[in-house]
Amino acid sequence: MTTANIIDGKAFSETLVARVGEQAGLLAEKIGRPPALAVVLVGEDPASAVYVRNKIERTTTAGMRSIEHRLADTTSQADLLDLIDTLNDDDSVDGILVQLPLPPQINEEAVINAITPDKDVDGFHVVNAGRLATGQDALVPCTPFGCLLLLRDCLGSLSGLNAVVVGRSNIVGKPMAQLLLKESCTVTIAHSRTKDLQAVCAAADILVAAVGRPEMITGDFVKPGATVIDVGINRVPAPERGAGKFRLTGDVHFESAAAKAGAITPVPGGVGPMTIACLLRNTLVGAARRFDAGPIDI
Ligand code: NDP
Repeated sequence: MTTANIIDGKAFSETLVARVGEQAGLLAEKIGRPPALAVVLVGEDPASAVYVRNKIERTTTAGMRSIEHRLADTTSQADLLDLIDTLNDDDSVDGILVQLPLPPQINEEAVINAITPDKDVDGFHVVNAGRLATGQDALVPCTPFGCLLLLRDCLGSLSGLNAVVVGRSNIVGKPMAQLLLKESCTVTIAHSRTKDLQAVCAAADILVAAVGRPEMITGDFVKPGATVIDVGINRVPAPERGAGKFRLTGDVHFESAAAKAGAITPVPGGVGPMTIACLLRNTLVGAARRFDAGPIDI
């Protein structure tokens, strides 16, 4: 039985995109053009193609300019780095996003770190990671920032709360932990070597699951009344929908966790829609900073 408040990330993200759109309109009046996001897609990965299509649609919905570069999956690292150099130098581009994963001949780290930090709207560049870790102004990775916005909306002040982040990737777990620390949470980062993960999680007021393992975090891992944020997006077989059909599920077992939690994000419709909204927010923030147009408070 579900007793938890279901956190509606879809509705929140739509409000956020609308606010970004308003601010983008005001910025466009100051700088003479809408903020612009360049998206680079290398290869034909179907999941990446869907993400990129959604990103482009939402960018235009928010009144921003979307620039697309679609490259063959045989593209060399040198050619991709050349394109990034061109986009770095192009004053009409405010944000650069290279869709991951990249084909095996290309080193992702080299590509991420070739993007100028001020246009790194994914927030993956080592300079932005360092700025976040040292409490300086940074472009923050979109998925954890989206989680933080949902948590603030749900809980108000996070100060003093016990937060457990399961997962230590550079794109979700580590920046999520940094953001929660900045909010004055007491933060634990758990991972595949953590001993007695269930007990660690069961002490959390805020539990963030970014594991990539379908429904691994069950109700037994949830402290009564805790706020549970499920970052996971897993495609699992759904024979009940017909042969060869799939469904999306999170890293949290929704039914059992929702019976214990105070609030919980669903999958889909929780964290997922926040990621693109935060990407647009980062593009706006990046553009405002580059043109010294004053702070953006979103
Ligand atoms: P990674 O695979 O990079 O990291 C997974 C982390 O989970 C690792 O730190 C790993 O530990 C840890 N882990 C794996 N198995 C266990 C276990 N049995 N017990 C405890 N910890 C474990 O994944 P990402 O961070 O990139 O993504 C995590 C999830 O979030 C995925 O489902 C992904 O699809 C989703 N995602 C969703 C996004 C969105 O927009 N909503 C955006 C990005 C990701 P170790 O380091 O020890 O190996």
